[in-house]
Amino acid sequence: MRRVAIVGGGISGLAAAYELEERRRGGAQVEYVLYESSTNLGGVLRTEHIDGCVVEAGPDSFVTEKPWVADLCRALGIGDQLIGSNDADRKTYILVRGRLVVMPDGLMFMVPTKILPTGFSPLFSWKTKLRMTQELFHPPRAVDHDESVAEFVERHYGAEMVDRLADPLLSGVYGGEAANLSVRAVLPRFAEMERNYGSLGRAMLAARKKMPAGSGGAAPPLFTSLKNGMQSLAAAVASRLTASSIVTGVIVQALQREAGAWVVSAGMQSDQFDAVIIALPALAAAQVLRLASAALAGELAAIQYTSSITVGLGYDREVRQALPPGFGFLVPRSEGKRLLAATFVHNKFPHRAPEDRALLRCFLGGAIAENLWGLSNDGIIAIVREELQQVLGLQAEPLFARVYKWKSAMAQFGVGHLERLERIERLRRQLPGLALAGNGYRGIGVPDCVRSGREAARDVAGAAG
Ligand SMILES: Cc1cc2nc3c(=O)[nH]c(=O)nc-3n(C[C@H](O)[C@H](O)[C@H](O)COP(=O)(O)OP(=O)(O)OC[C@H]3O[C@@H](n4cnc5c(N)ncnc54)[C@H](O)[C@@H]3O)c2cc1C
Repeated sequence: MRRVAIVGGGISGLAAAYELEERRRGGAQVEYVLYESSTNLGGVLRTEHIDGCVVEAGPDSFVTEKPWVADLCRALGIGDQLIGSNDADRKTYILVRGRLVVMPDGLMFMVPTKILPTGFSPLFSWKTKLRMTQELFHPPRAVDHDESVAEFVERHYGAEMVDRLADPLLSGVYGGEAANLSVRAVLPRFAEMERNYGSLGRAMLAARKKMPAGSGGAAPPLFTSLKNGMQSLAAAVASRLTASSIVTGVIVQALQREAGAWVVSAGMQSDQFDAVIIALPALAAAQVLRLASAALAGELAAIQYTSSITVGLGYDREVRQALPPGFGFLVPRSEGKRLLAATFVHNKFPHRAPEDRALLRCFLGGAIAENLWGLSNDGIIAIVREELQQVLGLQAEPLFARVYKWKSAMAQFGVGHLERLERIERLRRQLPGLALAGNGYRGIGVPDCVRSGREAARDVAGAAG
């Protein structure tokens, strides 16, 4: 019997456990123990149901294009719970000099694919619009080194594009700044487009032309979520697992290799395994691996993480009617606010709020979140409400307000990240039976975490199944 330890009961560890559980049920000679330090499974997947609203503390959805979460939901028998974003009402605003400006139609991330909407948009100055036209003539470019997203975007469209679009769009995903993120790790498709075409605009248009006829019809929704919230995914996976294989409320302190086996020290006990899957943020993985390989722990610890705070605010019918249409707004750092983004959740997804309620999800990340960490929840709510008043004129008292703090939960794929992953892979291979899963490596979103957990399980299940 091959024994596998899984460290971490977030969605990455749960996906790994699910994969092993399916193999066990299929007759494979494998058993597993999943260790989770808190009393709840799911990690940052946490949903509260308040006043008829579905309030997401962590992730609120995932990109539909990446199939791994939806596949898992269908395998679990909860495919009927998947809901798509209301893309017909999609509209996102950017705060520019204190006013909300709608993002023009046809922008693919920051690449304009429709001339008229971008040409007439007040989001960009004439200088940036000129840069967009010039960009179409950029020749293919072989770049032999990694660079930051900010440098890459600035090279194509100028600094205003970094400030108004690239930075706000990415800070909602990574919590950090475009200047600290690797273009090769975060925007690999754009880096490839540059290599092949030079101009991102031309590459996008060429990709469109290659799309099969008829594929312009009913496009799948951009984002997908679950009717009862993202935590219901964790609950569905957990209910499929063998209850006796789950150990919660126990911190894994260290992993060591002894006489060809892995020794897991957790709480007051230790146990032996043939293999281990570390499904933790890289920083926490470094901590538990420090005795097994100082070199590997050093590389893992060098992957930066940022903290984030989400604030859920519920309002009544009048506020819902007064709010602008669309999914919400993003705030460039140059606007000098602490709020990085706010989502009008009642518009973005069905089933999130009753007809007579408005639900806002506000996001603060990176250095801003760190600076506010010591404040009370009331203090954080007061700041968010003050900024909502400045941006939306929203003065009403919320019906409810919740603050959720996530310390060092969002990975920053810094410049050189892919090279670091190669070094990590080499060091990992020196430790037989070790697999790594989670958001620190090849994708921060829930779909990539699910994929990484299942791949790690397949990797260590080996001959057992
Ligand atoms: C506020 C926020 C919003 C986000 N929004 C989105 C979104 O909309 N869409 C999207 O796709 N992604 C989003 N993400 C990213 C995504 O949710 C996460 O990257 C992903 O859920 C991480 O899952 P994980 O299992 O790898 O890690 P975690 O969820 O961090 O789980 C790790 C688990 O390990 C446990 N643990 C830690 N140390 C130990 C130890 N020593 N021993 C035992 N257990 C331990 C922790 O308690 C935790 O439960 C968001 C993230 C945050 C924080």
